[in-house]
Amino acid sequence: MDEREASLENYMGGWWDGCSQCSAWCDEINDAETDEKKQQIIDENLTHYAGVWLCEDCLNDVKAREEG
Ligand SMILES: [Zn+2]
Repeated sequence: MDEREASLENYMGGWWDGCSQCSAWCDEINDAETDEKKQQIIDENLTHYAGVWLCEDCLNDVKAREEG
């Protein structure tokens, strides 16, 4: 199990904060009726990066910052 899977497993069934920087998708994920639906929203919109979940905008910000 990789780090992303471990994190996903850890959060599944519990509360999602959505994007760790801007909380995007938080409501959508927590309102999802099934784990499948939840996972689909996560797969489509959040990326596990450097130990946290980020939306596409924040992922681009973080990467841009890292590249200086
Ligand atoms: Zn974000």
